[in-house]
Amino acid sequence: MTDVADVAIVGGGVIGLSCAFELARRGKSVSVIERERPGFGASTVAAGMLTPSFEVELTPPALVELQLDSLRRYPQFVAEIESAGGLSCGYREEGTLWVSRHRDDELELEHLRKIQEDRGLPARRLTGREVRQIEPYVSPRAVGGLLVESDHQVNSRTLMVALQAACEAVGVAIRVGAGVTTVERTQGRVELAIEEESGVSTLCADQVLLAAGVWLEDGLVTPLPTIGMRPIKGQIVHLKGQRLADHVLRNSDIYIVPRSGGELLLGATEEEQGFDLRPTAGGTLDLLRYAFEILPGIYDLYVSEIDVGLRPAVTDHQPVLGPANVEGIYIAGGHYRGGVILAPSTAYWMAELMTTGRAPEQIASFGIERLLAERLQEAAG
Ligand SMILES: Cc1cc2nc3c(=O)[nH]c(=O)nc-3n(C[C@H](O)[C@H](O)[C@H](O)COP(=O)(O)OP(=O)(O)OC[C@H]3O[C@@H](n4cnc5c(N)ncnc54)[C@H](O)[C@@H]3O)c2cc1C
Repeated sequence: MTDVADVAIVGGGVIGLSCAFELARRGKSVSVIERERPGFGASTVAAGMLTPSFEVELTPPALVELQLDSLRRYPQFVAEIESAGGLSCGYREEGTLWVSRHRDDELELEHLRKIQEDRGLPARRLTGREVRQIEPYVSPRAVGGLLVESDHQVNSRTLMVALQAACEAVGVAIRVGAGVTTVERTQGRVELAIEEESGVSTLCADQVLLAAGVWLEDGLVTPLPTIGMRPIKGQIVHLKGQRLADHVLRNSDIYIVPRSGGELLLGATEEEQGFDLRPTAGGTLDLLRYAFEILPGIYDLYVSEIDVGLRPAVTDHQPVLGPANVEGIYIAGGHYRGGVILAPSTAYWMAELMTTGRAPEQIASFGIERLLAERLQEAAG
C-alpha cells in the first residue's frame, strides 16, 4: 500500500505534533508517523517549565532569543490548540521563584540577576521573609529569592493530549504504532518505508520533517550524515498530597513544579546513560534531598511516580532546525532541555521555511551545517 501527503512527519512528540498542527493550519495535508503513541518520548516526561530567564547564563544569545520568541508565542499557541481541539493545555502564568538556601545560592543568584539585567529580563529580588510571604511552605531557612513573573509553565502531558486533538481537528492523519525504517529521495519525492503490525507500507511526500527525538539515528535510515544525536537521561519524581506551592520553585540543584490536584514534580537528573530508562535510588535520593531543603513539607507527601525520559542532544546542546542536506527533507530535533518551551517557535519558523522556501533569520544559527563543519574539523584532526 502507498499513501501520499504533502508533508510526512517522523515522530509524534511535542515537536512533531506542533509542526504538524501549524503546517495543517497553513493548508498542507500532513501525516504524522509515530512508532509508539504521541508523547511516548521525552515530551510527556518534561516538567513543562517555560523559564528562559533562569537558563540565560549558559545559553547562547541566539537561543535565548528563540526561547523568548517562543514564550511570547505561548498564549496564542495554547489558545489556537484549545480552540481547535477543545481541550485545555494546562498553561499557567504564576511565575517562577528562585529560592536561596545559603550564601552560596545568594551569590549565584546575584550573578544570575546581573546577567538577566544586562539582557533586559525583568526579575524582582526578594528577602527570605518575602519569599515566604509568597510561598508560605518554603523552608524558614531560605535566605532570599528572585521572582520572575514572566517565566511560566505548561503541563506537558495535558499539552500532548490537547495537541493531538487539535491536530486531528485540523485534518492531520496520525498513524500510531507505525515505525519509519527508511527515508529516501526518489523520483522527485521523498519516500518513507513504514513498519506496522499489519505489515510494511510506503508513504510518498513532497516534504519530510524528521522529528524523531533521540531516535533520529537509532533504527532509522536516512540520507542525513551522522550528527551525533544522543540521549541525556532525566529522572523526575512525582509527589501527591497537600498543595505546598503555586509558583515553580528552583535553584541550581532542583526545580519543583506544582501541577493541579496537589501534584508536585521534582526534577531533574542529567545523566549520560545511553538509552537506559530505569529510575535509580541515587537520582531519587538527590531530588528528594534538594527538594526537602526548599519545601520540608514534602516529607508527608507520597511518591506517585518516578518518570524517566531521554532528552535529545547534539554536541553544542542547541536545537537543529532547518533543511537537511537532501532536497525535501527537513529536521527539527536536538531540543535537549527546551523542547516544550521551544515548540511554538519551532512550529512557526519551520512552517514558514517549509511553506515559503525562505530560511527565517530566527533559526539561521541552528542549521545542520554547523555540526557537519564540526565533524569535518574533527576528521581533519
Ligand atoms: C526529565 C525531563 C524534564 C524536562 N523538562 C523540560 C522543561 O521543563 N521544559 C522544556 O522545555 N523541556 C523539557 N524537557 C525537554 C523536552 O522534553 C524535550 O526537549 C522534548 O520533549 C523533545 O521533543 P521531541 O518531539 O523532539 O522528542 P520526543 O518527545 O522524544 O518525541 C520523539 C517521538 O518520535 C517517535 N519516533 C522515534 N523514532 C521513530 C521512527 N523511526 N518512526 C516513527 N516514530 C519515531 C518516538 O516514539 C517519540 O514519540 C525535559 C526532558 C526531560 C527528560
